[in-house]
Amino acid sequence: MSEFSTTDQQTLDGSTVQASGAPLFDDKGYTSIVWLQKMDMTPYDFPYIDQLLVQGYRNWLQQSNGIPWINEEDTAVFNFTGVRVAGREEDDNEDLGLVERCCFSREIEVSQRTLRDGSLGFVYMVPILCRNHKRDLFAFLRFTRSAQHVFAEQDALLAAALHFRSCFYSKFEYIFMEDILGVQNRSDREGRRRSILFQIVKRMHDKIDVEGVLDEVFDSIAYLFPQMDITLYMSQDRHSRNPKVKPLLLHERDEDVCVRAFMKGQMAVNEPVGLQNEVTEIGIPLRGKQGVYGVFHMILPSGSDSMNKVDVELIAMMADTAGTAFENAKLLEQSNILIHELRLINELVQRLNQSLKLNDVFEFAMQELLKMFKADFCCIVQLDQEESYYKVTSSNVESVRLHSYPRDEGFAGLVCKTGDPVIVSDYRKEGKISSTLMDLTDSLSLMAVPMKTSGTPMGVILLSSKLPNFFSYDNYKMLQMLAPHIWLAVTNAMLHAEVRRLANMDMLTGLYVRHYVDQFIQQHQEKDFCGSLILVDIDQFKQVNDTYGHQTGDEILKSVSDIVRSTTRDEDVCARWGGEELAIYLPQLGVLQALQYAEKIRYRVQHETEPRVTVSCGIAEWNWLDEQISIESLFYSADMALYEAKNEGRNRIVIDHAGSA
Ligand code: GH3
Ligand code: MG
Ligand code: MG
Repeated sequence: MSEFSTTDQQTLDGSTVQASGAPLFDDKGYTSIVWLQKMDMTPYDFPYIDQLLVQGYRNWLQQSNGIPWINEEDTAVFNFTGVRVAGREEDDNEDLGLVERCCFSREIEVSQRTLRDGSLGFVYMVPILCRNHKRDLFAFLRFTRSAQHVFAEQDALLAAALHFRSCFYSKFEYIFMEDILGVQNRSDREGRRRSILFQIVKRMHDKIDVEGVLDEVFDSIAYLFPQMDITLYMSQDRHSRNPKVKPLLLHERDEDVCVRAFMKGQMAVNEPVGLQNEVTEIGIPLRGKQGVYGVFHMILPSGSDSMNKVDVELIAMMADTAGTAFENAKLLEQSNILIHELRLINELVQRLNQSLKLNDVFEFAMQELLKMFKADFCCIVQLDQEESYYKVTSSNVESVRLHSYPRDEGFAGLVCKTGDPVIVSDYRKEGKISSTLMDLTDSLSLMAVPMKTSGTPMGVILLSSKLPNFFSYDNYKMLQMLAPHIWLAVTNAMLHAEVRRLANMDMLTGLYVRHYVDQFIQQHQEKDFCGSLILVDIDQFKQVNDTYGHQTGDEILKSVSDIVRSTTRDEDVCARWGGEELAIYLPQLGVLQALQYAEKIRYRVQHETEPRVTVSCGIAEWNWLDEQISIESLFYSADMALYEAKNEGRNRIVIDHAGSA
């Protein structure tokens, strides 16, 4: 039965009938009978009319029970094309002739003929007209009578035909009502679905994590379609705890409904081709504004009527919502990761900068990196100044720590050469580069990242693990982000050390300044048993200046300083005490040993300087048995000895009396 719209409808004879705009139900809930009674058949109904005619006919027979000539043997009903749809078979050709006559006359047509049982009788064909458009006929009723029972009047036939028509129309109205109720039910169902969808959408957008969104999708589909088998194929490397989430393999053939849905970003359907047990497959993309993230794959069993177009559209709408919610959650997740990474960098940088001691910085950076990346081994290497080798400045692998390697060796060498970072997932399969670190530690995974100054690699951070495929791409990115910060901390510490060194250095002579030697002696007096101090003063230096000029005087001063430095040990500290006076502190040496150094200096100055100068020296010592141990008293004693050496004629060495005593 067609769904009657409230627009004008075409009738049999081509005229139009105004469908009533009256409501289906009045305010008491009763059907508006008048409106319904105005409804009539249209050509749209003809394809379904046979069934209605049969039902009307049965009803009519039932209601006419008791009238002897109304029974299934003596009557039949024909549709508007003249095909008999119910009642007894007679001569179909003869009947068709009668029908044609009826169509033409629109009145009862009669013929006399031999009936099927062989008797002679009369056949009456009565046209059934539409109740409102009286010129339209939609069926014919046939009555057969034996010659003895012929109708004197045809009124009884007309009355019976009218009764048939009302039986027919009551069925018509009933089915019509059924149709309307069906539409109403469908729209109710649709309304319910929309409200569920609305709730789902709301809940999905309430979820802020990706897993939460996916769980909501599966829960909602399970709630709406409990029998449905659904899987989500994700295109990205996402590990989900949900077993219904699987990776999408794009190398599958084009027949794969998921690949098609993913590529086109649209729903794709594989209809069964009619084979038994074939199923319908549907792929619906999980799509956001920035791209397609995956495909929902649904399988409908063959002959399944549990899914209709509305259901599929509903799921498609849910998938769209899920796509947006998923994208939002993913963006949030990414920004959280970013914030976490920035926080890590910030914390690391703060801690790195807590110390300006280079060794501390290296050690701390190494420990932090091991912890942060859960790596087994770490090496931080630095290129030397001539750049012919690199030195492992910090490592938890003792056998390489503080060792130097040719600058093109291993992964550090490769990174120094190219300036690019390297990641190795399985060293056994790498084959090209042989690495001491990897061999010594049995490591299989590696990340090696350069530390650069103005784009030039100055060092490399290497992290390794015994497990293959240990470091993720995110780890690799993170290490690359950290490397410049670590290098900055290293260069800060190096600059700081240089500034400190320069602050303790005398520019002209390259020797330490006075306050440094003061500190040095103080530290040693606190822990050592003894030590000696030599004061060296150039003789008649004023004259040298006067004779050769200040510049030559400076050169002489430098030559004397060089002699002093090269004559003493590494652990001794040589300083410019003031003017052309130098001081040498020799830890753990007594005056007699100091005297030997002083003598060497005196001799070398006399023979190696040009213009030639001489020096006088005063030596003093302290030891832990002294009553009073101080820098001042040590200097005082040495100065006294020097004074004596000057007085005794210069170019000589005098040992402090107290010390030599
Ligand atoms: P002596 O020590 O033998 O008693 O005689 P002297 O001429 O060396 O006397 P004194 O130590 O008193 O004089 C120090 C001179 O050294 C004064 C100054 O002209 C010179 N002098 C000090 N510092 C420098 C310097 O940095 N460069 C130069 N060219 N001369 C310096
Ligand atoms: Mg002097
Ligand atoms: Mg002097």
